[in-house]
Amino acid sequence: MNVGVLALQGDVPEHLRVLRELVPDTIPVRSPADLASVGALFLPGGESTTIARLIEEMGLWAPLRQRLEHGLPTLATCAGLILLARDLAPSAYGRDPPTFGVLDVRVRRNDYGAQRESFEAPVRVDGIGGRPFPGVFIRSPRILGVGADATPIAWHGEEVVGVRAGTIWGLTFHPELARDLRVHRKFLAQAGALL
Ligand code: GLN
Repeated sequence: MNVGVLALQGDVPEHLRVLRELVPDTIPVRSPADLASVGALFLPGGESTTIARLIEEMGLWAPLRQRLEHGLPTLATCAGLILLARDLAPSAYGRDPPTFGVLDVRVRRNDYGAQRESFEAPVRVDGIGGRPFPGVFIRSPRILGVGADATPIAWHGEEVVGVRAGTIWGLTFHPELARDLRVHRKFLAQAGALL
């Protein structure tokens, strides 16, 4: 199975580098043809408004919506999670992007505030034992509420920092920056992309 990283803007090289340790022929996805060739997709962090605009410009909005609605195994980090959220609470930092709405969460962009734009904190991930996962949060969105169609899968203290809806995962932190492959392995295994 091909694995792809949506490669329009954001921390695409970091995702590709980590993923190629596990799935050597992971491809960047920039066109509908690229998208059609993958069986699992990563949505990187970056600027959600810019990524949304580029998805539209590249003719990817409708095909990506269709793949997501059919359960394309997807791991979305940070800006990627924002793009999948069903509901965005207005952010204090300018306009919010349109979203695909496939993850039943209410999210607010940049909600950890300017003074704490980036931080690292231990995260507990469902089904991953041993030491806590190193959570890297960069101008992260906050998950304000989880609806009935989504399940929490990651926590920083009491706060939910990751959810899934079936095969689609959304995280407010960046496992691709953590030098720890446990989240990637778990996601790829459930997606059927690891031998
Ligand atoms: N602050 C960004 C946004 O709102 C997300 C940050 C990130 O992806 N690291 O789109």
